[in-house]
Amino acid sequence: NLIEEEEEIVEGNNVDKTKVRHNIVFVTSEVAPYSKTGGLGDVSGSLPIALAARGHRVMVVSPRYINGSTNERFASAKDVGYRSTIYCFEGEHQVGYFHEYRSGVDWVFIDHLSYQRAGNPYGDENGAFGDNQFRFTLLSHAACEAPLVLPLGGYTYGEKCLFLVNDWHASLVPILMGAKYRPHGVYRDARSILVIHNLSHQGVEPATTFQSLGLPSNWYGSLEWVFPNWARKHALDKGEAVNLLKGAIVTADRILTVSQGYAWEITTVEGGQGLNELLTSRNNTLNGITNGIDISDWDPSSDNYISSCYSLHDLSGKVKCKADLQRELGLPIRPDCPMVGFIGRLDYQKGIDLITSAMPEILQHNDIQFVMLGSGDPSTEYWMNEMESRYRDRFRGWVGFDVSVSHRITAGCDILLMPSRFEPCGLNQLYAMRYGTVPIVHRTGGLKDTVEDFNPFADEGRGRGTGWSFSPLSNESMIQSLKFAIETYKHHQPTWKGIMKRGMSKDFTWDHAAEQYEQVIGWAFIDPP
Ligand code: ADP
Repeated sequence: NLIEEEEEIVEGNNVDKTKVRHNIVFVTSEVAPYSKTGGLGDVSGSLPIALAARGHRVMVVSPRYINGSTNERFASAKDVGYRSTIYCFEGEHQVGYFHEYRSGVDWVFIDHLSYQRAGNPYGDENGAFGDNQFRFTLLSHAACEAPLVLPLGGYTYGEKCLFLVNDWHASLVPILMGAKYRPHGVYRDARSILVIHNLSHQGVEPATTFQSLGLPSNWYGSLEWVFPNWARKHALDKGEAVNLLKGAIVTADRILTVSQGYAWEITTVEGGQGLNELLTSRNNTLNGITNGIDISDWDPSSDNYISSCYSLHDLSGKVKCKADLQRELGLPIRPDCPMVGFIGRLDYQKGIDLITSAMPEILQHNDIQFVMLGSGDPSTEYWMNEMESRYRDRFRGWVGFDVSVSHRITAGCDILLMPSRFEPCGLNQLYAMRYGTVPIVHRTGGLKDTVEDFNPFADEGRGRGTGWSFSPLSNESMIQSLKFAIETYKHHQPTWKGIMKRGMSKDFTWDHAAEQYEQVIGWAFIDPP
């Protein structure tokens, strides 16, 4: 393997471990621009490119989700011609591999009939797909095979690789390394890092499904999970289950989350979703690295989705973006009226209940326009439509998932509201700051780490901060921060511009995060637990 031959560590006092080149296999259930539904997709589409740019050989492995509307996105990925037979779920399943080399990264898509159906990667309008455990078991098995069998660019990656496994969908990978491969001498020098993007999804299924996962029976303990009383569905339910994420927490060489704040929160009873004790026991291998953003995709000075580009040095385009957004939404064109946006999944996590319960009061007492983009909870979607007809001049609810609209809202609004109950990292507040849109966030997880609270007295009266973060999570504290922001916008424009410009000047590039990943990857090889 050419790459392995290149791996030479120069011994000595000045060993720069970050210069070691690794073969990295990034396993993910979604990836932008092919199959993004949220932040994991953004990370999967950007971090591998940043790691490749630092000299690593990087492969991303994800399902080839094909349905009428997505075919085009996967069109450049061609069939490699290899097939693997996966033994799981009481049968033999043949998967194929499609491949595209782009931006220095090998994008590998697993081909199987179960990925070819209408809906998003996880479900459709009827909810989550019933066979997701099977679909993602297949992904993990196939991802373990890929570096061994695919001669990408003429050479396989080989067994000495580092698996970056993301969330529960890829969590079987470190378990398979130990249970299926190492007993046969394969992957002995490989390492794995579990990256937790959201602890609230753990891949929990009845214990009886263990036998379908393609693992030897003595590995049951690594996945065994007795969930708490409150989560049991009926009196006879003993709460016995397998938990795929738990399996990766106990078997991966290291664990990462997408911000330091969240890394700490998940070790607490409050934020640990039942896994806090386990995570605490692995504290010495747990770290947080704040996500970066794709600054070419999200760049107000070259964004193709927005009507007028702008930059830190010339903000006039933002004024036009706001007017054009108001026009597009059919709202009165009022440059003086603060425009507030929300973008995200309509989910309890995102604090949607605060928005729905506080909105009448917010609109009654404040001269603002409010626009929401999102889909998910049907009752919130219905509420958005209701509000729109009740407040025709003040409120717009855009139900759906639309990347171009999300860019126009980010550029056109003055304020972005994120009252997330918990937020592992959060990307919209980062995009907002880059676009001079001031975030108001609940002080939690990655939001707490990335939005610096406005303080007008700091720095000899010049002011500091890039937005407002409120706590506790209540309508009152959210509304109070909103009022501070509205007042600053309306009556203290120079101060407002200062907040905008400080946000726009922040460095959220992936390169910084990739450097930190590189360090943790180094620890996985040098310092196995
Ligand atoms: P999460 O991963 O929990 O959904 P993040 O803030 O980490 O939240 O990332 C969400 C990503 O999905 C962002 O890129 C955001 O712009 C995008 N997004 C969420 N909802 C929508 C939507 N309705 N339309 C377009 N993009 C959306």
